[in-house]
Amino acid sequence: MKQTKTYYIETYGCQMNVYDSELVAGIMERESYLRAESVEQADIIFLNTCSVREHAEDKVHARLGVLKAQKEKKPGTIIGVLGCMAQNLRDDLLIRRPYVDVVLGPDSYRRIPDLLNERLAPQEHIVDTKLSRMEVYEGLFPARREGVGAWVSIIRGCDKFCTFCIVPFTRGRERSRTVESIVTEVQQIVAEGFKEITLLGQNVNSYLSEGVRFPELLEIVTEIEGLERVRYTSPHPQDFNDKLIAVHATHPKVCNHVHFPLQAGSDQILERMNRTYTQSHFVALAQKMRSAVPGLSITTDIIVGFPGETEADFQETLDVMNAVKFDSAFTFKYSPRAGTKAAEFKDSVPEDVKQDRLERLIEIQRQHTLEQNEAHIGEVHAVLVEKDSKKSSDQHMGRTRNNKIVVFDKGSETTGDIINVRITGAGGITLFGELA
Ligand code: SF4
Repeated sequence: MKQTKTYYIETYGCQMNVYDSELVAGIMERESYLRAESVEQADIIFLNTCSVREHAEDKVHARLGVLKAQKEKKPGTIIGVLGCMAQNLRDDLLIRRPYVDVVLGPDSYRRIPDLLNERLAPQEHIVDTKLSRMEVYEGLFPARREGVGAWVSIIRGCDKFCTFCIVPFTRGRERSRTVESIVTEVQQIVAEGFKEITLLGQNVNSYLSEGVRFPELLEIVTEIEGLERVRYTSPHPQDFNDKLIAVHATHPKVCNHVHFPLQAGSDQILERMNRTYTQSHFVALAQKMRSAVPGLSITTDIIVGFPGETEADFQETLDVMNAVKFDSAFTFKYSPRAGTKAAEFKDSVPEDVKQDRLERLIEIQRQHTLEQNEAHIGEVHAVLVEKDSKKSSDQHMGRTRNNKIVVFDKGSETTGDIINVRITGAGGITLFGELA
C-alpha cells in the first residue's frame, strides 16, 4: 500500500545526533514515509534529543509543550522522543508527558517501522531503550539532504567514563562498524556528489574493527576516488598517537585540522575528570602535531568550574591555552548531570566564580583566535565553497582545509567547488578573502 503518512525530525545536540537523524530519515523513507516540510504538516514528529547539558534538555521540554498543543489541534499526530533523553529520562517522560507516544533510545532505530505500525493502531506508549553491544546500523544508510560535506558514523558509544559525562550511560559501550560498510557508505556519498566527509564517533580514534585501527582506516578512506577531503571528530587525547600524526602529515586528503578536547589544564582536575592524560602529555602531543603538519589548526573543548577547581588549577588551564594557542575553543561552565560520578562531588565551585573564569578564558581565546587567523593574511588557501555568506548573496562562504571559514566576493564558482582564495583579513572567527 502506498504510504501517505509524513514525518519530521528535529535534532538537538551533537553531530552524532545529526547523523542519527539522517539515519532515521533513511529508515522512514525506505518504508515510503514522506518527509514533511515543517512540524505543522507532519503526522509523525520525532525530537532527536541530547542529555549532555541541562540547557539542551530544557529546550526539548519546552518544545514538547508546544507539540502537545499541536497534537490537541490535530489528534492522531504521533510524537516520538529519540536519542539520549529518551534513554536517560524515559520514566520521567512517560509520567510527565503522557502525550508522547514513542520513546526510543539510540540503539533502537532499526525497529522504528515495526513500532510505528504497532502505534498507528491505538495502543499504549511504545518504549524501547535497550542498549546494545552490537548495533552499529550496518547496512542502513542515512538520507542526506544538503551541504557539501557528509557525516559518517564509524564507532558508536564510549568506554571512557569521564566523570562529568552522561554519554556512556545513554549511548552504551564502544562498537566499531566494519571497514567494508564504511567504505561502501563513503563511495555512495561520493556518487551523490559530496566532496568532503567527516568520520564521526564519541571517541573516533578508539576505532578498531578486525585489526584495523583508526589511522589505517583513514588511509583506506583516502583511497576512495572522487573524495577530496576527510575530517574526523572527536578524538580522545589518550588514543592519539604518532601513527595518526604521520597520516595527517602524509595524506593531503586528510585535512590539517584536529579537534583536540582539553577539558581542563591541571593534572588534579584531569584526574578527577578521569580524562586519563596529563597536562604535559597533552601539550607535548599538540606541539608534535603542529611541528609535523604544516598549517595545522587545533580546536578544543574546555570546562571551567569543575568541582574542586581552585584558582591555581584554573591558571593551569590558561597556561595550556597559552602554550598551545588553540585556533578556537568551545567553552563551558561545568553543570552536574544526574547519574554521573561528578554529580556526587561535594566541592562545587560557586556560580559567580565559574562565570568570572569563563569570561577570562573567553577573552584569552578571542585573542588567540585572532592571532592564529591574522597569521593567514596574504596566504592562498584551497576553499571548498559551502553556500552564500550570511550577510550578502553577493558573497560566498567556504572552508579551508584547516577548517577556517572564509567569506569572499563571488566569481564564477558554485557551491561544492574547491577554489583558491587569497586571505586579506581576519575578524573574530571569520577570514576574509578574494579569488586568487
Ligand atoms: S570521552 Fe568522555 S566526554 Fe567524550 S563521550 Fe566519552 S565519556 Fe563523554
